[in-house]
Amino acid sequence: MRTRRRHRRRQRSRRMEKVKAKIEDEYSTDLRREEEEEDQPYECGICLDDDIRAFDVVVKPCKCATSYCKKCWNRSMCTAPRCPTCRTSIGFDYDSEKGEAKFLLYEDPQSVRDGMIVLPEGYKPGTEFRAPMRKYFWNTMSQRVRPTFLQMLAETNTGEEGARTCVCGGKNCFRRMTMEERRGQAWNPRGFAPFCDACGKRQYEVGQDGHPRVDDKGYTILIGTHTWSCEWRSVAHLWGIDVCEDCMSQEPASGFSKDVVQPP
Ligand SMILES: [Zn+2]
Ligand SMILES: [Zn+2]
Ligand SMILES: [Zn+2]
Ligand SMILES: [Zn+2]
Repeated sequence: MRTRRRHRRRQRSRRMEKVKAKIEDEYSTDLRREEEEEDQPYECGICLDDDIRAFDVVVKPCKCATSYCKKCWNRSMCTAPRCPTCRTSIGFDYDSEKGEAKFLLYEDPQSVRDGMIVLPEGYKPGTEFRAPMRKYFWNTMSQRVRPTFLQMLAETNTGEEGARTCVCGGKNCFRRMTMEERRGQAWNPRGFAPFCDACGKRQYEVGQDGHPRVDDKGYTILIGTHTWSCEWRSVAHLWGIDVCEDCMSQEPASGFSKDVVQPP
């Protein structure tokens, strides 16, 4: 009796082994297929880099065949939201699962249903973002990005090398850097006055008149030695991201939100 049971058990486990092996085989074939797809090189229509991998190619809503690397496409979308090749007007949403901007067609009614940020009346699709429009767009986008942003900060901080995938979708581009390095990336290094996007704290000194204090060369005086930042220009963070060292070492303040800017 006992032997028969043992035999049956052995048979069952042998069957299980076979099923397991089959699943593993299918899984590795899928993986291989995925790797092959990711290995296929593309050429970016802007920087002409001809060695970009599939996961670095942007998914655009227009039908034109040109490929773009995420870096070039994002930078282009920050100023003129239209396809650089076919000039189609591009709209935006935020994909919180992938943690990056989502691009939609402005003319497609479905896009609105898919969550596209509808820009205020008076804005002609495809035209350049001017200052008030940028502010409105930046505000709306950062509200959508915020949950992913907080999640990104909560991921394990491994110190100097703790770079991580940013909310713009860039791989390991959110990292610790010196204040001066960050200043060098700024559009106006002299007047660079960052504040922490998590807690809202200023990362520069202000005088009694409320204006930023400057040194004898006219440069703003920054607080602290390091900041965490992403250097990419992306529609997910038009002006970049800055997070103070305090917020990186502690639980970030989740209550902070910037004033809602009214459409221009
Ligand atoms: Zn490129
Ligand atoms: Zn196009
Ligand atoms: Zn980024
Ligand atoms: Zn902070």
